[in-house]
Amino acid sequence: METKEKKRIAILGSTGSIGTQALQVIEEHSDLYEAYVLTANNRVELLAEQARRFLPEAVVIANEDKYAELRDALADLPVKVYAGADAICQIVREKPVDVVLTAMVGFAGLKPTISAVEAGKAIALANKETLVVAGDLVNRLAHKYHADIIPVDSEHSAIFQCLAGEVSPIEKIILTASGGPFRTYSMEQLATVTKAQALKHPSWSMGAKITIDSASMMNKGFEVIEAKWLFGVSPEQIQVVVHPQSVVHSAVQFADGAVKAQLGVPDMRLPIQYAFSYPLRLDSSFDRLDLCQVGSLTFEAPDLRRFRNLALAREALARGGNMPCILNAANEVVNRAFLEDRLGFLQMSDVMADTMQKAHYVAEPTYEDYLQTDAEARRIAASCLTRN
Ligand code: NDP
Ligand code: MG
Repeated sequence: METKEKKRIAILGSTGSIGTQALQVIEEHSDLYEAYVLTANNRVELLAEQARRFLPEAVVIANEDKYAELRDALADLPVKVYAGADAICQIVREKPVDVVLTAMVGFAGLKPTISAVEAGKAIALANKETLVVAGDLVNRLAHKYHADIIPVDSEHSAIFQCLAGEVSPIEKIILTASGGPFRTYSMEQLATVTKAQALKHPSWSMGAKITIDSASMMNKGFEVIEAKWLFGVSPEQIQVVVHPQSVVHSAVQFADGAVKAQLGVPDMRLPIQYAFSYPLRLDSSFDRLDLCQVGSLTFEAPDLRRFRNLALAREALARGGNMPCILNAANEVVNRAFLEDRLGFLQMSDVMADTMQKAHYVAEPTYEDYLQTDAEARRIAASCLTRN
């Protein structure tokens, strides 16, 4: 009997919310997939535990100060141990990896994603910040090096699934949003919400940064930008619709008016698994959707006054160049400040708008420009913080 080669998967950010769920998918389909490389930033203990369980070829800890601790923890295993951000880039470039799941958080995902793309590796893309910051550059490189980019973000996976088998162009994308925990809050209420409230997402359990971004709708703004680059549509072709049940993960409308949607229970393991198995679908033990139990599905237009970040994302997209990179950097600063109780919920938008005004605009940024822009926008946002 013919033995099938397993797909070798590198999980960048294996200790996070997406990373740990990806490992569950690999475990459930261990006949098809192998965790070949695992990486984390700080959490040595969990990374070592994962290495012990999955016996990858190599592990990388981004924070070099943690190298010795990780090396010692894995001394009895045949697992190679590396440290540093550059080691992550090198390993995805050089190792015989089939799929790179980008599940680290923030701008830090840009460089390793580009490294993987330049090596022609297939990307299962969770790290949306990479496309927000440099979608144009990443797309050009992916085209040049024949690297496939398969979305993991649930909405974009839904759109991708709706497009399977279609050859006609998209007329419109309907990007659904849960609306987060503050969907019905007034401006007065939003002014005083706490991080504890923001961290309680009604339908999804995710890492802290994206949970805050979801509460502030920055996440949805980023997803509009992500959709533009993944599916080659104009911003006007992307409609955001608030859908609190999070059952319709997104939809696509075609030239004849037909609308196709993908539905399911909120479980990130499905889009992760689909990104690994595409174009096939595999069995899964995940919960099934029971529409009778759901009862009703509701939809409403987003309120751009209360959720100004959606408007900021549209503005950044319209201005193009390095403006989305400026917005992303400012958001990383305010997101952290909010999590550390240094900034109010509504002030996050003020600081981002200020940073977009003040940072140096570059119409056609290179990779180096993005690095400079990111650093400059972080400095500006940090200085706005101290005045807020
Ligand atoms: P988490 O915060 O849960 O996990 C982040 C992972 O990245 C951890 O493994 C962390 O390591 C690692 N990491 C963090 N910073 C760095 C860095 N500077 N260098 C290298 N590794 C780093 O995040 P999520 O899993 O929630 O999100 C990951 C990405 O997926 C984000 O871009 C998010 O927008 C996207 N996404 C997430 C969804 C979700 O359901 N969670 C849904 C859709 C998209 P350590 O544990 O050591 O800190
Ligand atoms: Mg999403």
